[in-house]
Amino acid sequence: MALTGTSSGLHIVHIAAEMAPVAKVGGLADVISGLGKALQKKGNLVEIILPKYDCMQHNQINNLKVLDVVVQSYFEGNMFANKIWTGTVEGLPVYFIEPQHPGKFFWRAQYYGEHDDFKRFSYFSRVALELLYQSGKKVGIIHCHDWQTAFVAPLYWDVYANLGFSSARICFTCHNFEYQGTAPAQDLAYCGLDVEHLDRPDRMRDNSHGRINVVKGAIVYSNIVTTVSPTYAQEVHSEGGRGLQDTLKMHSKKFVGILNGINTDTWNPSTDRFLKIQYSANDLYGKSANKAALRKQLKMSSANASQPLVGCITRLVPQKGVHLIRHAIYKTAELGGQFVLLGSSPVPNIQREFEGIADQFQNSSNIRLLLKYDDALSHMIFAASDMFIVPSMFEPCGLTQMIAMRYGSVPVVRRTGGLNDSVFDFDDETIPMELRNGFTFLKADEHVIAVSVYFLS
Ligand code: ADP
Repeated sequence: MALTGTSSGLHIVHIAAEMAPVAKVGGLADVISGLGKALQKKGNLVEIILPKYDCMQHNQINNLKVLDVVVQSYFEGNMFANKIWTGTVEGLPVYFIEPQHPGKFFWRAQYYGEHDDFKRFSYFSRVALELLYQSGKKVGIIHCHDWQTAFVAPLYWDVYANLGFSSARICFTCHNFEYQGTAPAQDLAYCGLDVEHLDRPDRMRDNSHGRINVVKGAIVYSNIVTTVSPTYAQEVHSEGGRGLQDTLKMHSKKFVGILNGINTDTWNPSTDRFLKIQYSANDLYGKSANKAALRKQLKMSSANASQPLVGCITRLVPQKGVHLIRHAIYKTAELGGQFVLLGSSPVPNIQREFEGIADQFQNSSNIRLLLKYDDALSHMIFAASDMFIVPSMFEPCGLTQMIAMRYGSVPVVRRTGGLNDSVFDFDDETIPMELRNGFTFLKADEHVIAVSVYFLS
């Protein structure tokens, strides 16, 4: 197999819809930069391809400039021009694709949640491959992530390999099987895939309805398929697979669960520029100083320095155990602790519900709900909190429990997916003492999280 890259490593290209800190919605963004940097450090040539969103954090890109070339790419029977921008993010070379398509696919003031997401991301996947093909690069690994770029796997083998672009092997990582990207079969044709060839039960037809399923397509068409923790890899062989369990079983030889890690440069309390005072495990003074600073900033009571502060930073979606988060807020208030929630919801009734809770606690000096996305504030909460809850119903990996531990905040988590692989209960005598690093519970009812918070308070 002809693989190219630096003299010692591979040439690896990640094609993704998110990358921290420039375009971040959740953990996918952290993984693209964290994994990219880790692979680069090991001597590989790593490049990233992203859409050029209007809403991304342009100030996080170094040397952003438009290239002299315009890449023409196929979509819905026509060719469309695309501007290609380059820049550096976190020391990694990134290509940003700006389509000159009348649909203005990435000029929507948000990353996801548009009526034509299937079109937008199938368009992006096609241009990303076209860019690599036209550049003549001899890529070793093309790594695509989640349904938004899962189109890359069938496009590569069914379209580009036939054009002689076949040096690469395809890795697909599914960060969450809840989101699979399904559509009426004919929509697959937009990006030039052959509907008749792919709309079959052993290829891209969804296992339970007549639509096509892009994540299934990537499982079938990739050389290797990964997910983000060993426990989740087992869970998706049953209900966790959300209908794809049989496909995963059929392809189990090329499917593996690998635990994510965090970017230890971004998440480092001894260098974190968002903190009032930097600190480390060897000098914890800064931890309490950050707690005091957050309390002051959020106008919370600071009468008692040892009053425990519980943190929670999350997308507010059912997966995250919103009923348990809600219960933990009330229980913490009742027990006289402090609670800071940072989260926002794409689900209108959940967002409304939490706005209601925020209103109830308007005059409280102990409870704050900040219903927005705010990177700087997230760093401060990790640093300020004494404990951190992640009561997810399911959790492919979860990064916030890892970040919390790095910032000296004790994780209280539900034992599922990657939480089960990274947090080990302090009282579990079957686990060696030196590995025990937090508190875990299994039941998903309100009583259990209340007990955990109570014992820690
Ligand atoms: P998921 O990918 O399911 O959202 P993860 O735990 O894997 O969950 O990753 C979430 C990432 O997004 C973490 O880096 C977390 O700090 C960040 N995050 C989530 N919600 C917010 C928010 N409202 N503001 C800032 N950062 C957030």
